[in-house]
Amino acid sequence: MRILLVEDDRMIGEAVVVALRDAAYAVDWVQDGAAAASALELGEHQAVLLDLGLPKRDGLEVLRRLRQAGNAVPVIVITARDGIDDRIKGLDFGADDYLVKPFDVNELLARLRAVARRQGGQAAPLLSNGVVSLDPATREAHRGDLVLQLSAREFALLQALLLRPGAILTRAELESSIYGWNEEVESNAVDFLIHGVRRKLGADVIRNVRGAGWMVDKPDKGKHGQ
Ligand code: CA
Repeated sequence: MRILLVEDDRMIGEAVVVALRDAAYAVDWVQDGAAAASALELGEHQAVLLDLGLPKRDGLEVLRRLRQAGNAVPVIVITARDGIDDRIKGLDFGADDYLVKPFDVNELLARLRAVARRQGGQAAPLLSNGVVSLDPATREAHRGDLVLQLSAREFALLQALLLRPGAILTRAELESSIYGWNEEVESNAVDFLIHGVRRKLGADVIRNVRGAGWMVDKPDKGKHGQ
């Protein structure tokens, strides 16, 4: 899952980037409102962490224009302003949640997991297609009685597939869910990660659709998945 972080405070930004990468998110960090607007136009992110007090363009203005343009990407507002007015405005302008600084990184991660679940249309904390389930809180994958720890990137790969069971994801789509802008991606990185997940959970967990990409089965097809 790929996150856009919009934060002009260097120390907070650096700390959040580290925490997000440790938690297996791909993260891109911009430091002003204009850069945020340009980044959002690319439509590459599955969630946005948006500071309100920003140079060049206020965070509320970024949010207002984003929603006006019909972009429904989940936005968590992060702000030092704990004034109730800003919080209400943020929610009115279409924020999905908010965090007041200083916030605990674990709370931020929990809110991101909730946003990811809602986006995948799943209310349960486990992401599952009936064959394999993934616990975003622990990064453990379950299959039958098997419980396995995935690496951060294996987790990001399987999460991207489980958020859209039955959909074929291309190599570029998977890379975009796993890596941020500044990260070097080896040409065979996705194959390597898929090999790792299959070795741990069974070769049939991820299906290759020749020439198109990869998918996991939909829940109803799980029992007789190939
Ligand atoms: Ca700020």
